[in-house]
Amino acid sequence: MINTNVETIRQNIKVSCQKRQRDIEKVNLICVSKSVGVPDMETVFETGIRQFAENRVDALAEKQAHFKDSDIIWHFIGRLQRRKVKDVINTIDYFHALDSLKLAHEIQKRADTKIKCFVQVNISGETSKQGVSPEDLMKFVTELIEFDKIEVVGLMTMAPFEASEGELRLYFSELKRLQTILANKNYNHAPCQELSMGMSQDYQIAIEEGATFVRVGSAFFKK
Ligand SMILES: *Cc1c(COP(=O)(O)O)cnc(C)c1O
Repeated sequence: MINTNVETIRQNIKVSCQKRQRDIEKVNLICVSKSVGVPDMETVFETGIRQFAENRVDALAEKQAHFKDSDIIWHFIGRLQRRKVKDVINTIDYFHALDSLKLAHEIQKRADTKIKCFVQVNISGETSKQGVSPEDLMKFVTELIEFDKIEVVGLMTMAPFEASEGELRLYFSELKRLQTILANKNYNHAPCQELSMGMSQDYQIAIEEGATFVRVGSAFFKK
């Protein structure tokens, strides 16, 4: 099942890129493996997928131990408690959930090298969602200049689960608009070239709207 799911996802990505004449090389497919164990990850790994995302510190460490010396690129998504930053920040390649100066301070304190971070933006304004508001985004990113362990590689968002296609396009294109504004500022600490958006139910739309990283979980593992 996983093998055909991977084929389907790859085919869908190809179609979305063709629709908008986008270079498929610019779209990074991340497998969100938070809901599965090592055996299912092995199956995905064997299809050639090399980017995985986790949202729990313990599970991440366990899976990293299993795949040690592999060429996997590891992503951390979701809320990260400040007291756990030290356990994870030097083991990952990308952090997708930077949304407060408090967290930035902790990363600064604990990181051995510059960490590639996405600033999470709460585009939809849902109170249940993490992320800085679009209104606060520009100020927040300029404040990050003092943290030399943080590189803002791009912006990340999660769309509401119940959003219509039209709403999804609005949210994703708004994140793209904000990312373009930031990229054009040419900040050294915030090149902001990337867009982490799109999950199993909306990654095709996200790619059509400019996503460069899609975070796909259940579509890999559904039976
Ligand atoms: C779980 C999760 C995903 C993947 O969700 P699916 O609907 O399973 O594809 C993507 N991003 C974040 C932040 C998540 O927590």
